[in-house]
Amino acid sequence: MEKLKACRNCKALVEMDVKKCPVCGSENFTKFWRGMLIVVDPEKSEMAKLMNIKYPGKYAVAIAR
Ligand SMILES: [Zn+2]
Repeated sequence: MEKLKACRNCKALVEMDVKKCPVCGSENFTKFWRGMLIVVDPEKSEMAKLMNIKYPGKYAVAIAR
């Protein structure tokens, strides 16, 4: 879990060596995040809708500001 960082913009979780968020293109990441949400089908996931997630992937439930 420590090997991932979260995009501050869309909360996508990516590997530490990723420079740009594959979901939103942001370069603003944080190592301080909690809870992993794995979205397989954003259309069918209530949680994904709630968090405004449109692409499958791993997301942080909460990130530090
Ligand atoms: Zn992002």
